[in-house]
Amino acid sequence: MDSSIVLFGPPGAGKGTQAGRIVQATGKPQVSTGDMLRAAVEEGTELGRIAKGYMESGGLVPDEVIIGLIKERIKQPDASGGLLFDGFPRTIPQAEALEEIAPVSMVIAIHVEDESIVERICGRFTCASCGEVYHDVFRPCKIDSICDSCGGIEFKRRADDSEQTVRARLSAYHEQTSPLESWYESKGLLQRIDGNHSIDQVGNSISNLINE
Ligand code: ADP
Ligand code: AMP
Repeated sequence: MDSSIVLFGPPGAGKGTQAGRIVQATGKPQVSTGDMLRAAVEEGTELGRIAKGYMESGGLVPDEVIIGLIKERIKQPDASGGLLFDGFPRTIPQAEALEEIAPVSMVIAIHVEDESIVERICGRFTCASCGEVYHDVFRPCKIDSICDSCGGIEFKRRADDSEQTVRARLSAYHEQTSPLESWYESKGLLQRIDGNHSIDQVGNSISNLINE
């Protein structure tokens, strides 16, 4: 398996928004554990049944469940050229497990202040057809209620994108996920990006990193 890239940062930092550009530049498919878990909840699978309560409360799904999911995902043929992980790993045990099964060449950490995160998440919505990520204020559709990228007219808001749950998700991030930043830094893999700029500016910083 070729090396993978990790997109790292708090919920709402802009990982999903920037992922498309990295996929295009590198050809590495995006693997979002959040999207995989939401699909499982919608389908009502055993995984979804286990994950649902954790996701609703803003806590993390147990490591063994997530590690099992990733182990299955990297067996797919499209993983051979490496993957773009979005929202994984989120704990040191997850990162240690990843180290055993797939090489990582770069960790891109997007930094955004907590107050901006709440504002970003509470205004987030996505196209129900193609998953394009929008924001009421910062990234509205160019034509009202029509998806810029696929022309879809149905949009979704996540149940866990409420202010109360965002605060719980931020606590989980600070307590369990942020220690990973120095863990990856000590391995010489970390690249920090200031995410407090426009979507295009952040995208350009990421492109510069990838093309270096
Ligand atoms: P994550 O995948 O890290 O949870 P998203 O990419 O879904 O975050 O972004 C969260 C929300 O913030 C979305 O509504 C998105 O449109 C918006 N957003 C993303 N990047 C920026 C930015 N640089 N400036 C303002 N809003 C942004
Ligand atoms: P996200 O879409 O990345 O914001 O994730 C939504 C929710 O899914 C999180 O709040 C967690 O409950 C769960 N989740 C997603 N990825 C992970 C992970 N790597 N480890 C644990 N829980 C996760």
